[in-house]
Amino acid sequence: MADIRTTAAVAAPETQPSTEHVAIRREDYRPPDWLVPEISLDFQLDADRTIVRGTLQVERNGDHDRPLRLDGDEIAALSVKVDGADADWRMDGPALVIDLAGDRATIETEVEISPAANTKLMGLYASGGMLCTQCEAEGFRRITFFPDRPDVLSKYHVRMEGNATLFPVLLSNGNRIALGDAAEGRHWAEWQDPFPKPSYLFALVAGDLEANRDSFTTMSGRQVDLAIWVRSSDLPKTQHAMDSLKLAMAWDERVYGREYDLDLFNIVAVSDFNMGAMENKSLNIFNSAYVLADQDTATDADFDNIARVVAHEYFHNWSGDRVTCRDWFQLSLKEGFTVFRDQSFSADVGSPPVKRIEDVRVLRAVQFPEDAGPLAHPVRPDSYIEIGNFYTATVYNKGAEVIRMLATVLGPEKFRAGTDLYFSRHDGEAATCDDFVKALEDGSGVDLSAFKIWYSQAGTPKVTARLEHDAAANAATLHLEQKVDPTPGQPVKAPMPIPLRTVLIGAESGAELAPERLIVLDEPRQSVRFDNVSELPLLSINRGFSVPVVVKAERRPGELERLAQTDPEPFARYEAIQELMMRALVAGARGEAADSAPVVAAVAATLQSNSLDPAFKAEAILIPGDSMIAERMDEVDPDAIHASRESLREAIGTGLSGALLGAHRSDGVEGHDLSPRAKGIRRLRTVALGLLAAGDPQQGAALAKAQFDRADNMTDRQGALGILASLDVPERQAALDAFYERFQDDPLVLDKWFALQAAAQRSDTVDQVLRLAAHPDFTISNPNRLRSLAGTFGGNHWAFHSPDGRGYAFLADILLDADKLNPQVAARLVPAFGRWRRFEPKRAELMRQTLERIVAAPGLSKDVFEQVSKSLA
Ligand SMILES: [Zn+2]
Repeated sequence: MADIRTTAAVAAPETQPSTEHVAIRREDYRPPDWLVPEISLDFQLDADRTIVRGTLQVERNGDHDRPLRLDGDEIAALSVKVDGADADWRMDGPALVIDLAGDRATIETEVEISPAANTKLMGLYASGGMLCTQCEAEGFRRITFFPDRPDVLSKYHVRMEGNATLFPVLLSNGNRIALGDAAEGRHWAEWQDPFPKPSYLFALVAGDLEANRDSFTTMSGRQVDLAIWVRSSDLPKTQHAMDSLKLAMAWDERVYGREYDLDLFNIVAVSDFNMGAMENKSLNIFNSAYVLADQDTATDADFDNIARVVAHEYFHNWSGDRVTCRDWFQLSLKEGFTVFRDQSFSADVGSPPVKRIEDVRVLRAVQFPEDAGPLAHPVRPDSYIEIGNFYTATVYNKGAEVIRMLATVLGPEKFRAGTDLYFSRHDGEAATCDDFVKALEDGSGVDLSAFKIWYSQAGTPKVTARLEHDAAANAATLHLEQKVDPTPGQPVKAPMPIPLRTVLIGAESGAELAPERLIVLDEPRQSVRFDNVSELPLLSINRGFSVPVVVKAERRPGELERLAQTDPEPFARYEAIQELMMRALVAGARGEAADSAPVVAAVAATLQSNSLDPAFKAEAILIPGDSMIAERMDEVDPDAIHASRESLREAIGTGLSGALLGAHRSDGVEGHDLSPRAKGIRRLRTVALGLLAAGDPQQGAALAKAQFDRADNMTDRQGALGILASLDVPERQAALDAFYERFQDDPLVLDKWFALQAAAQRSDTVDQVLRLAAHPDFTISNPNRLRSLAGTFGGNHWAFHSPDGRGYAFLADILLDADKLNPQVAARLVPAFGRWRRFEPKRAELMRQTLERIVAAPGLSKDVFEQVSKSLA
């Protein structure tokens, strides 16, 4: 194993013990030396002082004489016994090591932990009076000594005892098999999980909670009791999550043939949570942001996100729990596949084209920059220092795109045959990404070996396309080329198989000239011939975004404009409009003459169309964000990008004020109507208003304030406030104050109040954010609140990159403060600095200096160290 501390010159080695910051490498994988078929845990619960007794049945795995090694993290053994007797044991760093003579033993350990003092929110911690756990990826070792790796699967028996008033509800995985009262106002419960599982899926909850209860009958007739546990005051906000859960259970039966396997399924909402939610077997623990919703406090997007995350965690019961990962390098095995599953679910219950646009937008805004920067890594990484840093858009979203690509290549029936085989072949096992592809191959009879490079090669392929028309021969030839730029550790790239859904459209007729083809570009250069091309063809390529690449197509004058109005495939049509916008935006940012007329015409045609639905219109006319424009620039100047974007918005707002006003006023939906159509109308209402305000800020402010005051739902209210927050008008502060007054006791809504101001497109946003950081309601210890201010600000391209460097200083200060409490959450703020090399020299230097200041800070966590040192390398 190698230490990757290559930036020792800027690091502060004296503060870093030598055992830290060691890279773990995929190629070093070795099966576990010892297995633990069974474990019993006994918890004497108390927020300040919890005693955990673990009893492990261990078995030597294979023929070797290595000792038993149990992982620990910030825990100390009060006692250790082997087969009931005091034993010789030693600590090796944080791990407990025992030499065992035989092939089997019973190990008993006792540790004391303090949930209330656990600010990392990994392991057992306290949140708002309750106790709960988060064990993925390596939190279980903060609870008890254990071989804490996903390929050690055990059957769990859990007994917990605690104060009956503070903790009336005691939950763990599986089924509750007994409960009773104990002395001194205490009570206890015993839980047993019949399914062997890795330690990262262990969960425990103790608290004063109430449940929204329901039931679901599975396809084989099993009745499952469902419960969503929250504080009693939050009960009225749980119905959407419950409805989403039942939809997801039925969907997974219908689409993947997967049935739920226990009699009980619990969801618990927690206010302090590092991630979105966690798929612990039968006891999902959720960030409350992904459970609680009603019309008055949650936007349509919040409702959609709740459905998505509830479905995602539920789907993990098969893609993650029943079949888990062999090691953390295989994280995308469960995450990429499960994101693909939740994306398909959301598309089926909503609008497929709009969902596709949203997913691709996230991919381009977050994953493409990651793939082109210093933190680029393959979908299946080769090494890590801190696995918490690899819960990335590459592992999740690009991983999902790879599965989607395989599903496209196979077609629905063969893909289903492959996933059926995957689930049956690996049920109860810890598997790899290679196992997954092999099961798809064996189930479908199709050789997919060429596609495996998508798991191992980082970077977004760039495809250039040129269409040549030979009118005399009634034919056309499509010339394709591909290239992948070097990424850290991968200087030379191999060609990749790139499946492009492609069709030619008649420039005159606007009709598809032949059925759509799936062209697989798998060489550096390739030409494809089309026959019977009887009129001038337009190229519609990578339809539906069939592959996660950047396509640069050579276009004739007027070609994009024509595609923007005729392409029958909705995503391709959206792409044509976006590409028109991008041309104008990039030209403007370069200081060239930017012709906004084609964009204005395309937006006008979109708004006037009778065949497009409002949700699609809203997505199609949204202008790409600053950071996406920055990806197209050779040298990033945030002021120039911002000015270019504002000028295009203004041109649309003034040029189309009538049509925009019409779209803004379109009505006929009730605030509680959550149908896709109603959501689309609300979305278009606010998107149109934003463009109107860009054209005429005074009129925009008046309309936004009217929408804000009249709103009977959070979507309209937040939409209006978001527009006002960027304007210099008296209505701004009045609306912000009214919002605060009304919602100051609702933490999730208050997060929105912080986020809207941190996202504001204003020249004084840095000052506003500094002021908000001193607000009595701001705290860095709650991850949602920290993300709402610091995370949102880091994504506010123009304000964060303020030329005086104050945005950088603010984020660095708050990141270093947060790192002392919660390294995992702090490390997520680093990527805002990651692409410093692409900026104009003055900002690049300021960003570099800021990164050096962070990495030199005493006592830096390995989480932040890894991200910062890679960014500097
Ligand atoms: Zn997941």
